[in-house]
Amino acid sequence: DYVNFKRIVNHILDRVEFTMASEDADKHYEIKRDFTSREIYVDIDQDRMTQVIDNLLNNAIKYSPDGGTITVSIRDNHQSVIFSVRDEGIGISQADMEHLFERFYRVDKARSREQGGSGLGLAISKEVVELHGGNIWVESVEGEGSVFNFELPYTSFDDIEEEWI
Ligand code: ATP
Ligand code: MG
Repeated sequence: DYVNFKRIVNHILDRVEFTMASEDADKHYEIKRDFTSREIYVDIDQDRMTQVIDNLLNNAIKYSPDGGTITVSIRDNHQSVIFSVRDEGIGISQADMEHLFERFYRVDKARSREQGGSGLGLAISKEVVELHGGNIWVESVEGEGSVFNFELPYTSFDDIEEEWI
């Protein structure tokens, strides 16, 4: 179905911020939203794409120190939309980046076990993004942080009122 992409992402980020604000949240961070002013409608399975975005956000939180900034951006690339999550976390080595999207691949087994999770998040994310005709990739510098991106084809309905969709 066609859905308003920025609206969905805002919704997810509001929920993540709400969870962080709770008393027993163990990490605090700032989320910056850097979105194109264009209305972006994407033909997606909303539940599946929400799972992808949740995993990228949870990773950014999990693999960053307390108090960092996470920047979520939505950029218009004419025939496609680029979604990115940038963190100021531990980063990933070049060698590990090549395997990150494989099932059960986790960088530091011991540390990752402490963090919880199964190492399936990125493999599933890749599968879902590719099923939508898109692609997913990572850029990272060890010790500085990472940027996870995915690109999806989209149709722009510039002249149509949001309510009509
Ligand atoms: P799951 O998502 O199944 O709960 P997970 O988060 O360990 O577990 P993935 O999301 O597939 O699994 O991530 C695979 C591995 O990639 C992680 O264990 C971690 O080592 C590394 N990784 C993922 N995101 C980041 C990030 N933002 N910064 C640093 N390392 C990351
Ligand atoms: Mg994960």
